[in-house]
Amino acid sequence: QVKLPKDKQPFSLFMTLKNGLDEMVETLVEKATNITFRAGTKVMDLSRAEEGWRLTLNDGSFINADAVISATPAKISAHLIEQTSPKVASLLNRIRYVSTATVSIAYKKEGFPHSLDGFGFVVPKKEGKRILACTWTSSKFPERVPEKHVMLRCFVGGAMREELAELDEGAIATMVREELLGLMGIDCEPVFLKVFKYKKSNVQYQVGHASLIKSIREELQSFPGFFVTGSAYTGIGIPDCIRDGMNAAKEAIEFLANKTNT
Ligand SMILES: Cc1cc2nc3c(=O)[nH]c(=O)nc-3n(C[C@H](O)[C@H](O)[C@H](O)COP(=O)(O)OP(=O)(O)OC[C@H]3O[C@@H](n4cnc5c(N)ncnc54)[C@H](O)[C@@H]3O)c2cc1C
Repeated sequence: QVKLPKDKQPFSLFMTLKNGLDEMVETLVEKATNITFRAGTKVMDLSRAEEGWRLTLNDGSFINADAVISATPAKISAHLIEQTSPKVASLLNRIRYVSTATVSIAYKKEGFPHSLDGFGFVVPKKEGKRILACTWTSSKFPERVPEKHVMLRCFVGGAMREELAELDEGAIATMVREELLGLMGIDCEPVFLKVFKYKKSNVQYQVGHASLIKSIREELQSFPGFFVTGSAYTGIGIPDCIRDGMNAAKEAIEFLANKTNT
């Protein structure tokens, strides 16, 4: 096997940020010094103003904007645009969201009954198991786990077994431990276990999604200055969201440039 020089080696299959995904948001906020962020503030209402748009925030204040890019989940964007266009709202509301949960679970390495010589597994539906997949976090991202420990992350729910992700945290934890016993023979006590629930937070594209998005974009032509972006539209992964966000920003800049020129 030929060993490639370091700068010619292909990217790793798995990439993340060393200090966790928070780092991306924190860096963005730090670098974007000419942007005002209103963290913890919700947009409650959006209406057309004489020149552009008027947003009502949950602290009772207003923002008048020439253009709005709504990067909220589709159902929130639907709620915001409903007054202006019930048709766009009803199209946005057709984008389905499902509930999922993850369980992060750590054990002492000593005496752990599995070699974890891989990155994890996904479970085909026909197996009838109550977990969708399991990532072996300590094999995939070793720097995330203290040396003498191993860590797994199991995924529950999704389009096929949504109800499992909506169980209470204790029931999800017990269920995952039962499945790990059956699938991997893990019978030891975890030193750490945390359930994270994502209620109706994962977008689930349906057959016909591309034409639905096309219709939304066409309808939005009648409401210049209002743009939507995020995982609901052209891809779910973080790189997809970044690409879609950049496209929305470009469209908004073009719109503003044309507005200034007319
Ligand atoms: C468990 C899990 C694991 C994943 N793993 C990966 C992975 O390994 N790789 C990958 O690429 N992707 C992964 N994804 C997918 C990816 O993280 C998401 O698809 C993506 O983060 C969604 O981004 P978004 O901007 O569309 O939505 P969100 O991140 O949900 O952003 C929507 C924002 O809108 C805000 N908001 C809501 N209502 C209002 C309002 N009224 N006013 C103002 N703001 C509002 C919310 O606070 C939120 O900040 C994973 C997702 C999950 C749940």
